[in-house]
Amino acid sequence: IYQPGKPIEEVKKEYNLTDVIKLASNENPFGSSKAVREAILEECSNLAIYPDGGAISIRQALAEHYGLSMEQIIMGNGSDEIVQQITRTYLEPGTNSVMASPTFSMYKINVVIEGAEAREVPLIDGVHDLEAMLAQIDEQTRVVWICNPNNPSGTYVNQKELERFLERVPKDVLVVLDEAYYEYVEAADYPESIPLLAKYPNLIILRTFSKIYGLAALRIGYGLASKAIVNQLNHVREPFNTSRVAQAAAIAALKDQAFVEECKRKNREGLKQYYAAFERLGLFYYPSQTNFVLVDLKMPGNEAFEQLLRQGIIVRSGEALGFPTCIRITVGTAEQNEKVIQALTKLVQNRS
Ligand SMILES: *Cc1c(COP(=O)(O)O)cnc(C)c1O
Repeated sequence: IYQPGKPIEEVKKEYNLTDVIKLASNENPFGSSKAVREAILEECSNLAIYPDGGAISIRQALAEHYGLSMEQIIMGNGSDEIVQQITRTYLEPGTNSVMASPTFSMYKINVVIEGAEAREVPLIDGVHDLEAMLAQIDEQTRVVWICNPNNPSGTYVNQKELERFLERVPKDVLVVLDEAYYEYVEAADYPESIPLLAKYPNLIILRTFSKIYGLAALRIGYGLASKAIVNQLNHVREPFNTSRVAQAAAIAALKDQAFVEECKRKNREGLKQYYAAFERLGLFYYPSQTNFVLVDLKMPGNEAFEQLLRQGIIVRSGEALGFPTCIRITVGTAEQNEKVIQALTKLVQNRS
């Protein structure tokens, strides 16, 4: 079962706090574009009407944005739903699916629901071991997952490594490239994946409006792939899987790239804030291409989580994420980050 971040209201009550910061679910601390609010208000006059089942307008907007054809785009109720569409379509008992470990938990959850085997390949220093993943592929393999950048480590596979991998994966095995944090990435050698779609018809890229666009509440994400794959996935897609409000909000959000750039810049500043503090405290961390950072506190993650909770800070314990002595912190506003750093400093100083 997927374990979500602890809700703010629950923590306020339980610990009798008025001020609680949640940096546990990689949400955008700067909210969403102002243009989105207007688009949503406008859409409120149409609540009695079903959404466009084909999500034509948002798919057109995305097609233009990426220089792809509309038939190469499928919308999901969050990219989580595309994960489900993929396992629904391609997996059944007797088949298997290859993924890293630790990685985003929804892959395995959905593979297991279909009765297929999840083949988990340990990360090396927080990065996908593509050689070992290739070695796990056999006649029964249908889907391979690459979370890039990887959640929860924040690390990435570069262009060269990815292309070498795609060259060698059998053409009848689907490669899922989950790029939920794509818009945050800084690294110059991070893959430019869209042009790869033309070369690899067995590739699907997943992106979302939940992270940098700040629309997690509305549940809207998408897949980019060959027309053939999109067509197959459409057979299992619910007809009205994205709402009118979500579609309208996504169109407005996509148009406001200035907001995206601003969030990316502030996020980079926030990461620097954390890195400086970690270095001062002598803590190991994984350099991140995302809006979160995984840091090793050399103490049980659950204990660190509890101690921070008592100070009104919700992070994610590494224990449930496969990094038992770590916590994963979402980058917040400069002020929130400063509070977290102060709390961490106390915690590290009192560490038994
Ligand atoms: C957050 C996240 C998603 C899911 O996002 P949706 O809200 O379902 O669009 C997918 N993959 C990774 C790696 C994530 O961290």
